[in-house]
Amino acid sequence: MSINRRGCNPKAYPEGIKQKLFEILGENLKTGELLASHTTFRIGGPADFFYQTSTPEELIKGINTAKEFNLPYFVLGGGSNLLVSDSGFRGLVIKNLCRKVLIQENKVSAQSGTLLSELVDLSEELGLSGLEFAAGIYGTLGGAVYGNAGAFGKAICEVLEEGIILTPKGKLEIVNRDYFEFDYRHSKLKSSKDILLSTTLTLQKEDRERIRKKIEENLKVRKSRLPEEEGSAGSFFKNIKSSKNCLSGVSAGYLLEQVGAKEMRIGDAKVFPKHANIIINSGKATSRDVKTLARILKEKVKEKFNIELEEEVIYLGK
Ligand SMILES: Cc1cc2nc3c(=O)[nH]c(=O)nc-3n(C[C@H](O)[C@H](O)[C@H](O)COP(=O)(O)OP(=O)(O)OC[C@H]3O[C@@H](n4cnc5c(N)ncnc54)[C@H](O)[C@@H]3O)c2cc1C
Repeated sequence: MSINRRGCNPKAYPEGIKQKLFEILGENLKTGELLASHTTFRIGGPADFFYQTSTPEELIKGINTAKEFNLPYFVLGGGSNLLVSDSGFRGLVIKNLCRKVLIQENKVSAQSGTLLSELVDLSEELGLSGLEFAAGIYGTLGGAVYGNAGAFGKAICEVLEEGIILTPKGKLEIVNRDYFEFDYRHSKLKSSKDILLSTTLTLQKEDRERIRKKIEENLKVRKSRLPEEEGSAGSFFKNIKSSKNCLSGVSAGYLLEQVGAKEMRIGDAKVFPKHANIIINSGKATSRDVKTLARILKEKVKEKFNIELEEEVIYLGK
């Protein structure tokens, strides 16, 4: 069995599959694409197959093709909440670049590959309030809905009105906010395995200047706390959920600080000195380095507080 590019192994697949995949998916299909270049951690080995999609039709074609050939598949947004294994992903990674946006008065309908930053800019321009909290959050709308992304006590669930999903059985459905069962860093997409194709957000008309000021304020706070140059995936662990409020909880960063996390590193994987709940890649960190550091951090918190931290970051690959 031949292994190339740090573990990529197209020969592990039945004879002729590569050619058939190229016939169906065309020139947007690649083999051995390094996933490090598609994640904000800048970590991750090759995907055996990698397919870039710019329309929902292509996205659906990618998923259907993976199913037809029994290939594991993974829908990738901005890669900003992911830790990809050093050996990469055995299967088809489908990168979502579907970014069409339609505006009707205060309703913004956007395809799920639209960058959150683009929607924040657009809503500011149009004097539509509701997304100021999202200024500075990386990634796509799809990734944001998947993990109910939020900051400053607000989250995407508050503005989402409805969405179009593709179910694992291949059906297209229009669903409303209730379907998503939003909770702190959680949506039903995590268990249903439905893929979000687009959503409609309901925003409120507001003075542009006020929106701009709020965005600036939020960005200033983020700049003082979050890494800008180093690779990371933002907060590594979830805060401990408060029973009263589904959008926030006891800070995992506080618990980590109490166990001396800020002094800790494994190889080039380090705890960010300004925020104990962020692991950064300060150079050539491997996924193994990050996982080892995360395991030690969890053990220390468990030992001191008897609290089991849960990863917010999603692990991909073995
Ligand atoms: C410096 C930094 C700061 C951050 N700050 C915050 C913050 O303040 N608040 C916060 O909540 N997060 C924060 N994050 C984490 C991250 O930006 C968010 O979780 C973001 O919403 C992830 O979106 P993505 O497109 O990058 O998702 P990805 O990382 O690409 O994917 C995450 C998961 O979503 C799934 N997914 C993606 N698209 C779809 C889709 N269309 N349908 C179904 N599933 C899908 C993927 O399969 C994967 O399981 C930060 C990250 C960084 C690097």
